[in-house]
Amino acid sequence: MKRVFAIVLACLMVMSMFAGCKKAESGNELNLVKDGKLIMSTNAAFPPYEMTDDAGNYIGIDVEVAQAIADKLGLELVIDNMEFTAALEAAQKGKADMVMAGVTVTPDRELVMDFSNSYATGIQVVIVPENSEIKTIDDLEGKKIGTQMGTTGYLYCSDTPDNGGYGEENVVAYDNGITAVQALLNGQIDCIVIDNAPAQAFVKENPGLKILETEFTVEDYAIGFAKGNTALKEAVNKALAELIADGTVQKIVDKYIPAEQ
Ligand code: GLN
Repeated sequence: MKRVFAIVLACLMVMSMFAGCKKAESGNELNLVKDGKLIMSTNAAFPPYEMTDDAGNYIGIDVEVAQAIADKLGLELVIDNMEFTAALEAAQKGKADMVMAGVTVTPDRELVMDFSNSYATGIQVVIVPENSEIKTIDDLEGKKIGTQMGTTGYLYCSDTPDNGGYGEENVVAYDNGITAVQALLNGQIDCIVIDNAPAQAFVKENPGLKILETEFTVEDYAIGFAKGNTALKEAVNKALAELIADGTVQKIVDKYIPAEQ
């Protein structure tokens, strides 16, 4: 009897050792800024990916996808709202666990941060006043172009003409899209180059503006991490793959972008 008891005890001890190991693995090896939390940096001025509702709550496609990922990983989602360039930097420098802000994957950004698999596609478009003489992107030369600071729209437009840009001197970088729209309405700039989804939202809210038919460029959105935080990136990729496979991501996108725009 004593022997049986000893064996049972030994088994229990071995089992609890494994349980202990597993817990340590899922807790620490993701390299989280704060244990048990998934901190997402963003710029909540980019509808319908991230914005605030009337009560000041963060809503949008990125917010809901991030929440679904956090739920799968058993972590509490914490949203840290700041300017777009600061949001990129927060993830790069490990002050946030990840950046989700309709972030386009570009070769330059891949040098300084790691990206998840893509979860959405963005298109750069041009917003102009309804009566504008700008009809296609070929008419942008020599015009004052508004963009958001640090975004791909800014990077393309401010490039030199031999690289397909319009020259830095012709481009104004605003803190966010809403400020750029104000400047366009006030006649300080001739057009805005910005992602299609927020462009649609801004044009809907501000009569007198329209989006040109011509698409500027097509891009992939992904989640950014500090370089080398592979464990977190892989855990997020796994959760994301499941959420794409079971239709959750599509359901969230359809909720915010009801019809094909
Ligand atoms: N997709 C663009 C970029 O990554 C803009 C993102 C944003 O303004 N939130 O540069």
